[in-house]
Amino acid sequence: MNWIKNFVKPKITKLVNKKDSPSNLWTKCNCGQLLYINDLENNFYVCGHCDHHLNMNFKKRFNLLFDNQSYEMIDISIENNDPLKFKDLKKYTDRLKESEKKTNQNDAAFVAVGKIDKITTCVFILDFAFMGGSMGQYVGETFKIACSKATELKCPLVATTSSGGARMQEGLVSLMQLPKTVAAINLLNEKKIPYITLLTNPTTGGVSASFAMLGDIIIAEKGSMIGFAGKRVIEETIKEKLPENFQTAEYLLEHGMIDIVVHRKELKEKISKVISHLKK
Ligand SMILES: [Zn+2]
Repeated sequence: MNWIKNFVKPKITKLVNKKDSPSNLWTKCNCGQLLYINDLENNFYVCGHCDHHLNMNFKKRFNLLFDNQSYEMIDISIENNDPLKFKDLKKYTDRLKESEKKTNQNDAAFVAVGKIDKITTCVFILDFAFMGGSMGQYVGETFKIACSKATELKCPLVATTSSGGARMQEGLVSLMQLPKTVAAINLLNEKKIPYITLLTNPTTGGVSASFAMLGDIIIAEKGSMIGFAGKRVIEETIKEKLPENFQTAEYLLEHGMIDIVVHRKELKEKISKVISHLKK
């Protein structure tokens, strides 16, 4: 029956995945509303019914941040590997291949240089689409490349995060990326390079415990979930009920953990102001 798998199935999949198929035209928001993709694009991927900020992929993020949607991607020539030969239900190498196929990306991190309100800026993005934006060697090294680029160009670095934390399949190696990113930021500080972080939904685990919370200015998108361990785990540990808005951007702002909460429609303007202020 191999011909069904090898010949008929790909043909049917191709038909179903045609560009104008319903799944490509509509998406569903957390509030349950069906959203037309064209409308969403015009509305910065923010739900018109509940104002929820939906995930944006790295290309759309770069387009949103850079003037005239013009920027140059920095080549990341890092080979993804499997340092622990890890296997749970599936092999880690198979999970990587699946994610590569699904997203058409090598991993979760990207760097580009362009202008934000006419100021040359380096932007690092952690994209949730690839294995939940988790941080392994590839992401840690890419962050270092972003820091080096900003130092070389003597320009500000903006790091945008959306991540579930360290990549468990790389175990200790992924935890080693935490001090690595912190050391890279220390070098930026020594050279007086402005470093701004933009936390988007969700930013958790090892990413929030390292470079995400170390910005000179920390900006978060409205309603983003930001934290280290999950709310339920903390409640069970401390045996206390936590507030409803615990680990939201607004809660963190109220408690002095971050500096600015911004609606995505005002994001570019706000980042431009912060950059020009820090440049002075
Ligand atoms: Zn909604």
